[in-house]
Amino acid sequence: VAARLTTTDWLRRLVAHRTVVGSSNIALIDDVKGYAEACGATATVIPGTRPGAVNLYVSVGPRDTRGIVLSGHTDVVEAPPEAWTSDPFDVASRDGRLVGRGTCDMKGFVASLLAALPDLAAMDLPRPVGIALSADEEMGVRGVGPMLDVLAAAEHLPLFCVVGEPTRMRVAVAHKGKVAMRIQLRGKAAHSSAPHSGVSAVHHGATLVGEVCRYGTRLAAAAHDDRFAVPHASVNVGRIEGGTSVNVIADNCEFDVEYRLPPRQSPAAVVSAVRSLAGAAETAMRSDAPQASVDIEILADYPGLDIAGEVPALVARIAETDCAMCADFGTEAGLFHERLGVPVVICGPGDVAQAHTIDEFIDESELERCDRFIRRLAYSLSEL
Ligand SMILES: [Zn+2]
Repeated sequence: VAARLTTTDWLRRLVAHRTVVGSSNIALIDDVKGYAEACGATATVIPGTRPGAVNLYVSVGPRDTRGIVLSGHTDVVEAPPEAWTSDPFDVASRDGRLVGRGTCDMKGFVASLLAALPDLAAMDLPRPVGIALSADEEMGVRGVGPMLDVLAAAEHLPLFCVVGEPTRMRVAVAHKGKVAMRIQLRGKAAHSSAPHSGVSAVHHGATLVGEVCRYGTRLAAAAHDDRFAVPHASVNVGRIEGGTSVNVIADNCEFDVEYRLPPRQSPAAVVSAVRSLAGAAETAMRSDAPQASVDIEILADYPGLDIAGEVPALVARIAETDCAMCADFGTEAGLFHERLGVPVVICGPGDVAQAHTIDEFIDESELERCDRFIRRLAYSLSEL
């Protein structure tokens, strides 16, 4: 039998697992798995997309019918301790707030789920409740794919999913999609007094930066969605590096570009358009140096979310909140919807303004609202 832990207890315990982006989350997953099994739940570890990063699917209730899935990621962004007023991995309680890395984004939601688990397991639920804990969300939503494969192949798809990213317990029905790419150009080095004997990766890279940005401007003009603060696609080249010296023709140049897209614009189409721009640059470079190359690495790629129908209003009623806000940040919800084909909404405790900040915090009152939401959701299952 599992020890009784409050949401705050669980939040302390989860934050103490330093699941900073790029590190291992296995100790956290083992901890949660042991507890879930002691509660009488089934808990299945599902691989992620790199060593050291795994997903966990916890389920309570019957197996022979459709249920609901509640989802949260287990990783957090970095927290340089010298910048914080207290240890980011040791939750501090101040003025009704709990301070620590991941309290808001989004270990608070996960803590609330885990604290409710003994009650859910004891409830004789009419439908299953699944808790999907993912890896590597903060690495461009890269870890959850294998868990979605498992959920998509299951005999019973969920009726709907709730992704608990911070919305102050409001229900978000849409978010933008995103594609982020690293583009690496390799040219041919030469002395700058003989430019014809080399191929400048920096010059070609600069031209390609201009082209990917102009493409972003065309995307922005092609579709409007007034529900978002930025009501169209946007592009950003956020990093560029290349060359060694002003008197050397540069043989390398690398830059990172991201596009944020309204839900109706497809990340796949953007990837293929950028590939063709890169391909044209490569062809131009190879006419002077056959070894030249332009390679693309996908850093992040997830679709937007846009949910209609009855589920948003249903979840809003259970959460005792209003409905139909749009999130300006990306989440796993778009992928859940794309892969499972069932309604997915975002609803979780905390304010996204605190996510990724120094001295990140969550109001204890937000966690109390989330605790109540989960209990009301469990009692609502008989009406679904
Ligand atoms: Zn998050």
